[in-house]
Amino acid sequence: MLFDSHCHLDFAEYDADRVAVVRRAQGAGVRGILVPGTHPDTWTRTAEMQTLPGIQVALGLHPCFIDPRIDDFAFLGPKLREQAVACGAVAIGECGLDKSAGRLSLQIRLLREQLQVARDLDLPVLLHCVKAHGALLSLLQEMGPIQGVMHSYSGSPELVPVYAKLGLCFSFGGVLSWAGAKKSKLALQRVPTGHLLVESDGPDQPLSRRQGQTAPGDQRSEPADVKDIAAIARALGAEPGWGPFERSAFQ
Ligand SMILES: [Zn+2]
Repeated sequence: MLFDSHCHLDFAEYDADRVAVVRRAQGAGVRGILVPGTHPDTWTRTAEMQTLPGIQVALGLHPCFIDPRIDDFAFLGPKLREQAVACGAVAIGECGLDKSAGRLSLQIRLLREQLQVARDLDLPVLLHCVKAHGALLSLLQEMGPIQGVMHSYSGSPELVPVYAKLGLCFSFGGVLSWAGAKKSKLALQRVPTGHLLVESDGPDQPLSRRQGQTAPGDQRSEPADVKDIAAIARALGAEPGWGPFERSAFQ
C-alpha cells in the first residue's frame, strides 16, 4: 500500500496520458496520490484531479508561483479558505519559502496566511523549503505546533528532529536514487518512526534510471516511481507511510 504524497498530476506534462499514469501507479501498488495546488488561477484544475481514482488534492500558493506584478494579496486567505472547503481539500499547500524565488518577506507573509488557514480548517500543510530553513523555522516556531509534511526535504539531517518536534513529517523523492544523495539519505535516517513519506514530486525529480532517456515522457517522474523510492527507504531501514493523512480518505 504505497502513497505518493506529492505529484503535480494537473500539470501539462501529464495531459497526453494522465489516465494511463494513474493506472500504472495502481499497478505498482500506489493506493493514494496527493496533488498539491500551486496558484489560485489553477485551483479549479487541481481540484478536478479528484475525479481520478485514489486521488485527493491540496490547495495553496507555491512560493515560486507568486506573481511579481501583484502586491495586493488580501484575497488569498479568504479565497483559499473558501475553495479548500468547497472542494474538500485534504491539505493546504504547496506553500513555503524558496530563496531562489526572491521577495522573501512577501513569501513569509503569504506563508503565514496559508498556515493560519490550515490551522483554522484543521488541515495539514505541504511545505516547500529551499535554502530558507532559518526563516521557515522562525515562522513555524512563532506560530506553534503544526501538522504537515516537509515535501522533498532538502534540509540538514540535524534539522530533522527540530522540525519533527514541531509536529512535521518528511517526504523524500527520486533524489534518493541519485548519485550524491548522501545528505538526503542521512536526513531520512533521522526521521522518527511514523513520520516518513515518499513522493514522486512529478513531473520533477526523475529517478536516476530515467535521466538521459530521450523518449517523450521518459525523463518525467510519475506516481508509480514511489515503488522504487520506498524500496530505497526500506533498504535504509525506514518504512514510509501516510503521515498525517487518513489512508481511507484516498479510497
Ligand atoms: Zn511541488
